[in-house]
Amino acid sequence: MRSVQYVLGIESTAHTFGCGIASSEGRVISNSKSEYTPKAGGIHPREASQHHAATAASTIREALTAAHMTIGQVDAVAFSAGPGLGPCLRTGATVARMLSQLAGKPLVPVNHCIAHIEVGRMCTREDDPLVVYVSGGNTIVSAYSGGRYRIFGETLDVALGNCLDTFARELGLPHPGVPKLEALADEGRSFIPLPYIVKGQDMSYSGLLTDAIRRSKDHDPKDLSLSLLEVAYGMLAEVTERALAHTEKPALLLTGGVARSRRLQRIMDAVCRDHGARFSVVPPDLAGDNGGMIAWTGYLALNEGVSVDVEESYVKPKWRLDEVDVPWRRGH
Ligand code: AMP
Ligand code: MG
Repeated sequence: MRSVQYVLGIESTAHTFGCGIASSEGRVISNSKSEYTPKAGGIHPREASQHHAATAASTIREALTAAHMTIGQVDAVAFSAGPGLGPCLRTGATVARMLSQLAGKPLVPVNHCIAHIEVGRMCTREDDPLVVYVSGGNTIVSAYSGGRYRIFGETLDVALGNCLDTFARELGLPHPGVPKLEALADEGRSFIPLPYIVKGQDMSYSGLLTDAIRRSKDHDPKDLSLSLLEVAYGMLAEVTERALAHTEKPALLLTGGVARSRRLQRIMDAVCRDHGARFSVVPPDLAGDNGGMIAWTGYLALNEGVSVDVEESYVKPKWRLDEVDVPWRRGH
């Protein structure tokens, strides 16, 4: 195989259709996206997938143009094969299969959660961090050990971002919910006790969300926002702190859409200081779902010989990150 230089990545697990191009020296050279925002309520999977189908061609064209490349110049096509919403994943996979067939390039399946980790490692140059991955659909504390990323804590029900976004919508705040909720919380004055639920190393956010919504009828939204964020981030900090103490990793990496939260960054930084670990955060433009992170992880995988035949390129809506071998991290 000729040495791999450029990989194009397709992201389509949930609200974002993204296309990015990564190069072998560890750079995302272009990253275009189109985001579906529901008119009301949460993500409607079929509507989101229709949005992806409608915007795929222009998003891909934009990414190629920004990189001054044609599809013939990329060495492979990577795609988010899971976890995510079935209809959205299938749309992205169809587009990726077609590009790979048209251009005669290998097709590389990528686990979306691992891509959030790998793009963070790439940007921060932290080689072996404990990773806190927080987004609209996922809340996972993980670290590499013995050939795979292992999970040292996760949500048992709704994701942190989803919990906060749902509450923000309940208050009538516009999308994206987390930054709006944090701005409101900055004006909060008193703490309202809410259910703090950590079971072993796992978090449960659904009871907290239900209770916060129930109390929103007769409590000050500023105080409630402050309290919800304190409890939600506090639970995550507790789990993270134990994982850091147990794994003795030298650094912590915060990644995923909610990593852009200044409030959460401050809390995680404090956890790190207590444990003598370095703290780093993925840059804001690569924090949310994007094709560049899929491209970069596709590059790492293809370099180790990972690719898939079109006939076998199924999507996996429930694909866990600890099911995936990560041969590019051998030697750790
Ligand atoms: P993702 O699913 O990775 O694209 O991340 C989406 C999540 O990031 C949603 O829960 C958003 O509310 C949240 N988010 C978006 N912008 C920010 C921000 N500036 N600070 C904190 N969270 C954010
Ligand atoms: Mg994500």
